Amino acid sequence: MSVAASPRSIEYQHQFVDGRLCTLPVGKAVCVGRNYAEHAKELNNPVPALPLLFLKPSTSFVPLSPSFGLPADAGDCHHELEVALLIGEHLTAATSEQALAAIVGIGLGLDLTLRDRQQALKAAGQPWEIAKAFDGALPLAPFYCPSELPGLSELEFCLHINGELRQLGKSADMLTPVIPLLVYLTTIFTLLPGDVVMTGTPAGVAALKSGDVLTLQLAGRAGFATKVS
Ligand code: ZN
Repeated sequence: MSVAASPRSIEYQHQFVDGRLCTLPVGKAVCVGRNYAEHAKELNNPVPALPLLFLKPSTSFVPLSPSFGLPADAGDCHHELEVALLIGEHLTAATSEQALAAIVGIGLGLDLTLRDRQQALKAAGQPWEIAKAFDGALPLAPFYCPSELPGLSELEFCLHINGELRQLGKSADMLTPVIPLLVYLTTIFTLLPGDVVMTGTPAGVAALKSGDVLTLQLAGRAGFATKVS
């Protein structure tokens, strides 16, 4: 059984939209599940009382564009379009002010999820890493500086696949908004410069297939185009 989507020769480095190189190392991603009520409902999942957290390792990071791969023979691989936060400071048990000041980039990413495998793992009471943390499981677009975008609670973002609108999200609909999420998760996981936080997906997740053409758009800015190789 192999789930590796992308050879590690595809080097990932954090980038900014304006082309500036980001010198921060590539760390871990801390992700939150079921942070939008409509998405929890579409998968028949209860909304958790506390944020449902999981990790993706640095080896899951790949550039979103010009293309990304899917694991072979692993069942359905779903797109989960999410707002991604690039962290620039060391955060342990952060205050709201520290959390806000530590966000040096805001972008979009795909929390790729092997849904068939995840459902089997959930049914067996087993952890999700095989379905969520495989090589290539986190294609990331370049980041905007926070000052270039509307406020954290006013972000709208969408995903078109083959010209059809598939996911449309508003950060205002997050069950746990960005800053309370960072305050909570840094009581468990210290964030280091170069780490990324994935803030959950809105409704509309579905399986990707080879040849799909995707456009990811944040706050009405020019879209990031990519395709499934
Ligand atoms: Zn997700």
